Amino acid sequence: MKIAILPGDGIGTEIVAEAVKVLKTLDLKFDMESALVGGAAYEAHGHPLPESTLKLARDADAILFGAVGDWKYDKLDRPLRPEQAILGLRKNLGLFANFRPAICYRQLTHASSLKPELVAGLDILIIRELTGDIYFGQPRGRRVATDGHFPGTEEAFDTMRYSRPEIERIAHVAFQAARKRSKRVTSVDKANVLETFQFWKDVMTEVGQQYPDVELQHMYVDNAAMQLVKAPKAFDVIVTGNMFGDILSDEASMLTGSIGMLPSASLNAKNQGLYEPSHGSAPDIAGKGVANPLATILSAAMMLRFSLNQPEAAARIEKAVDAVLTQGLRTPDIYSEGTTKVGTVGMGNAVVKALA
Ligand code: NAD
Repeated sequence: MKIAILPGDGIGTEIVAEAVKVLKTLDLKFDMESALVGGAAYEAHGHPLPESTLKLARDADAILFGAVGDWKYDKLDRPLRPEQAILGLRKNLGLFANFRPAICYRQLTHASSLKPELVAGLDILIIRELTGDIYFGQPRGRRVATDGHFPGTEEAFDTMRYSRPEIERIAHVAFQAARKRSKRVTSVDKANVLETFQFWKDVMTEVGQQYPDVELQHMYVDNAAMQLVKAPKAFDVIVTGNMFGDILSDEASMLTGSIGMLPSASLNAKNQGLYEPSHGSAPDIAGKGVANPLATILSAAMMLRFSLNQPEAAARIEKAVDAVLTQGLRTPDIYSEGTTKVGTVGMGNAVVKALA
C-alpha cells in the first residue's frame, strides 16, 4: 500500500503529521513517502507541483494531502500559485469524483451555528464533480467586449461546459453511493437559467432510469442553498457540478460545527484517490499548534476504505475519533464550556491512545 504524503503549507504540515502518526499505529504495512507541494514546493523548486511530486502521486495507490496556500503568494502569476498544485493533481490523475461527507457528531451538536435539533444526527454526502464545469472550461480570459451592455470596454469571461460522459460517470458514482445509504439522490442544478445544467439534469434523469431503486430529486442550486440551512437532514446524497459543489460543500461544513472536522476524498476511475481535509492551509493559525487534525485523520480513514481496501482499519479510526470526542477533548475550533481544550498534537495523541 503505497501512500504519497503531501503536507503542503500552513497547518498542512501540522495536521498531516498527526494523521501519519495515527496510520503508523495500525497493524498495517504502508510504504509512505513525502514530497513538497504548494508554496513549499514553489520555494524549493520554483513550481507548486514539481514533476517529482507529480510522479510520486501518480505511482501511489493513494495520496494524503494537507493543504496549500498562503496570502503571501497572491501576487504570483496564476500558474505558480500554490492552489494550482491541487488543480494540477486533480487534472493529471483524473480525480473527477469528490466525496464530502457532512456529519454532525452528537458530541458537537452545540458547535453548529444552527439549532441543535436541526443538525443532531446529520449525515449527508455531497458528491461534487471535480474536473469539469466553469473551473476548467476554455476559452477564458480578458478581452475588449464587442457586444453586451458595454461594447468597447474591458471584460473577463469563463466557459461553463459539461460533456455527456462527464455527467454520466459522476451520476453513476452518486447512484451507487446512494445504494449503500438511504437510496435517495438530490441532483443540484440551475436548469432554469443555464443550458449546461439543463443538459446536466437531462443526463442525470437518463442515468437515474438505470437505478429504479434509487429516488432521484432535482433541485435548483439557490433552493438547495436555502434548504441546507432550513432542513439539512432532508438530504442524503447530493450530486452537483464543480462550482455549485464547491460552494454548497463549504456551506454544509458549517452545519457540522467546524470545517476542521470534515474529511474529503477525490477519486478517479481506478479508485486511486487524493484524501484531504475540506479546509485550507489556515495561515491565521499556522504554527500555533491549535489546528484541528480530525478532518485529516478522518480523511486517512476514508483513504483506507476507498483506495486501500481496509474498511476495518477505517472503522477503527472513526471509532477512535468518536471516543476522543466523547472524552470531551476539543481543539479551540470546537471548544465549548465544560470540555477540555487540547492542541493539534494533543488531539492526535488522544486518537492514537484511543486506537490502542
Ligand atoms: P481556510 O479553510 O484555510 O480557513 C478558513 C477558516 O477556518 C480560518 O479561520 C481557519 O483558521 C479555520 N480553519 C481551517 N481549518 C481549520 C482547522 N483544521 N482547525 C481549526 N480551524 C481551521 O480558508 P481560507 O482562509 O479562505 O484560505 C487560506 C488559504 O488556504 C488560501 O491560500 C486558500 O487558497 C487555501 N486553500 C487551500 C485549499 C486546499 O489546499 N485544498 C482549500 C481551501 C483554501
